[in-house]
Amino acid sequence: MSHPEPDLLLVRYAELALKGGNRARFEGTLVHNLREALDPIGPYEIRRAWGRVVIVPERRKRQALRIVARTFGVKSVSPAWRLEPDVDALAALGRRLLDEQLGPGARAQQGAAVPGFRVRVKRADKSFPQPSGELERRVADAMLEGEERVRVELREPDLEYGIDVRPEGTFAFLERVPGPGGLPVGTLGRGLCLLSGGIDSPVAAWLGMKRGLRVGFVTFHSPPYLGEGSRRKVEELVRVLAGWQGPSRLHEVPFTDVQVAIRDGAPEGLRTILYRRSMARIATRLAALEKAEALITGESVGQVASQTLPNLATIEDAAGLPVLRPLVTADKEEAIALARRIGTFGVSTQPEPDCCTVFQPRRPALASDAAVCARVEAEIELGPLEDAALDGVSTRRVLA
Ligand code: ATP
Ligand code: MG
Repeated sequence: MSHPEPDLLLVRYAELALKGGNRARFEGTLVHNLREALDPIGPYEIRRAWGRVVIVPERRKRQALRIVARTFGVKSVSPAWRLEPDVDALAALGRRLLDEQLGPGARAQQGAAVPGFRVRVKRADKSFPQPSGELERRVADAMLEGEERVRVELREPDLEYGIDVRPEGTFAFLERVPGPGGLPVGTLGRGLCLLSGGIDSPVAAWLGMKRGLRVGFVTFHSPPYLGEGSRRKVEELVRVLAGWQGPSRLHEVPFTDVQVAIRDGAPEGLRTILYRRSMARIATRLAALEKAEALITGESVGQVASQTLPNLATIEDAAGLPVLRPLVTADKEEAIALARRIGTFGVSTQPEPDCCTVFQPRRPALASDAAVCARVEAEIELGPLEDAALDGVSTRRVLA
């Protein structure tokens, strides 16, 4: 049986935590972000409706559904129909949706587990004459007469036929696609992510977006020690992440001269720390241009030598902004699971060297001291090299 075309997409967002003016800003930004994400695929209508957003795409509805389900702030989205709050009409649509889900006919397939099912009515419109429980029973009775494909299961149903009775209409749906949750990108300002080609920093960027940050990206590149492949890999990661937050800016910093100066002039054990301090300083200056109020890194405690607490402190000392480390307590397995979910894992595991492994010391120090580092940095005159690196930055906009 062909799928009856849904009229619209019913978008739910987590509103409980929102108070006062925050709520209007949250909703405004959510609708703005949905518009930006949907604009490329063709005409649609969008409106706010009492704690929901209703989208009516003219075509490419499945694609619109996928886009909405990737928008931060969205708790879930359902392809839904708007109809009269009438038991027969609701039951007829419900049966059609069950046919679509389970195949036509009233009998359960031999040997197949019979899914639990319930009708759930939510009544935002209390002027509606029937109490929710009564409407649930009447629709269920009308739908389930002679029906053997499902059994009634009120507590943990496998399938739920949802009916939202609202002032602007009655909406019904069977499918509920989870969104990423979190806050709409941009509601909490901007962050600048230090993006390597590794597994962790793209995940950290995604987690920042989920908390409402619009994330810009900076990567440090060291030609000719690193080739085109490493660059393309980072750009590809930004492309995947742009699929979540929209078009994204990537700054590429030519880092070779800084790294060579550190490699040749600093005690070997401190090299990695000094590379990171220099990255933090340069990123802080770029953040001012981006109007970003925090740096974001993929660092986590204890993962590599540069990530001991004293070393994290020494690195942070060089940053002029708060350093957000969303993965600070994550295991590698947890980071990998998230990377798979958001779609960056495949790119991150392409075998390309990164600038810090090329220049890696044999035995990095497990502890360091900011004052000692500052002295070395002055001795080897890193300042002018960092100025030059900033002058050489190239910036581009990356689309999904
Ligand atoms: P990742 O998987 O993100 O590379 P990691 O666990 O391998 O992280 P490191 O390689 O020590 O850890 O890097 C720590 C953090 O420093 C990275 O998560 C990233 O934020 C930043 N970083 C490292 N190298 C670069 C680079 N070449 N360009 C931009 N940021 C970098
Ligand atoms: Mg790395």
